[in-house]
Amino acid sequence: MNKYKIIVLLIILFPYVVLAQLNPELIQYKQDINPDTIKQSVEQLQNFGSRYAFNPNRVEVSNYLKNRLEQYGWEAKIDSFYMENFEYPYFSGIINTGWQYNVVADKRGRYAPDTFFVVGAHYDSYAYFDSLTYFHNSPGADDNASSVAAILEIARIFQKHNIQPTKTLRIEFYAAEELGLHGSSIAIQRSHYKFNEHISGMLNCDMIGYKSDPLSPDTVKLIYYDNSQELTDFAEQTTLNYTTLIPNKTTELNQYSDSWSYYSWGRRAIFLQESEFHPLYHTSNDLSTTLNYPYLSKIAELAFSIAYLASTTNTYYPISISEKPIPTHFVLKLNANPVKDNIKFTYITNTHEDPSFQIINQIGKIEITSKLSTYQTNFNKYQIPIHNLKSGIYYLIIENQIEKIVVIK
Ligand SMILES: [Zn+2]
Repeated sequence: MNKYKIIVLLIILFPYVVLAQLNPELIQYKQDINPDTIKQSVEQLQNFGSRYAFNPNRVEVSNYLKNRLEQYGWEAKIDSFYMENFEYPYFSGIINTGWQYNVVADKRGRYAPDTFFVVGAHYDSYAYFDSLTYFHNSPGADDNASSVAAILEIARIFQKHNIQPTKTLRIEFYAAEELGLHGSSIAIQRSHYKFNEHISGMLNCDMIGYKSDPLSPDTVKLIYYDNSQELTDFAEQTTLNYTTLIPNKTTELNQYSDSWSYYSWGRRAIFLQESEFHPLYHTSNDLSTTLNYPYLSKIAELAFSIAYLASTTNTYYPISISEKPIPTHFVLKLNANPVKDNIKFTYITNTHEDPSFQIINQIGKIEITSKLSTYQTNFNKYQIPIHNLKSGIYYLIIENQIEKIVVIK
């Protein structure tokens, strides 16, 4: 064969050589993603009327999601958490207290069941911009039934083809995102403290179904985080290899959805979103009829491809999260100051399971010290009685956090 023939042969074979690197099963499976099933799920979620976090129907909504996942053969559970004295709307004087229900489902990995890849989306909604109706009439079709429906479709495809991941693929549907990322924050904290799980990455989807002009190119936002280079590259490559979407990488608004909770706890995260923001989001007109289902299905295909490759292959597999130090994360927030009988506060950390605290006076004398858990009243909530302290200035010290306390008797 002369040189010329070899070059011709290489040119002919080039597309096959490139395609050979792609995963043939994934190409086959993702063809089953069905815009009609997705639309049906969006409509069923919309038919709850409202998925506002403190709506009484939240038990039903979470059970509906759990049942859907169980029907697809996933081990699903409701993971509840308590929200206490939560004023919402802000400054309204309306105090909400009650249980919230995350829905969590695992498809156990055959070889590395203790390594997790998480695909998550919030299921709560509100019509914040319609001040009178946002409790009762918040269909939340794009925000965020679109993503929940896409993830349910992923669950369906895993069952249909009996896909057995090598690492555990976890689906999480979060409660109370709209009121401050509560569900995802609880999910990652429980994963971190209770189970010490190795989360290799988290894929968040929030608002993925709106596109006004059907003829314009299909672009998708890949919203990324500065700790997640490998995951961002992997998501971008997967978009180019397995979809016809044009990836648009950005860090814009990356703190406004559940992937932020994972990022805050040192986990790698990536966030998919429609490239044109829904103009009627957070209103009672965020309806299924405003969505572009062929477009939504393309983003669902992308989410499926990422979830599939991350859980069944080594295309994306950061070896160990502990290779990189997890950023230290502290929050110490007093409920009130000055105080009289009790210091009430919220404390969140990812460094120790049960740190000690000290209360010292102005000359540095320790007045009270103990393990923090002694005074725990709820998840991340503490109350330290200070009946023996006289009026004056004190300091509450926990790990490297310090707060000045004014005691007035
Ligand atoms: Zn949202």
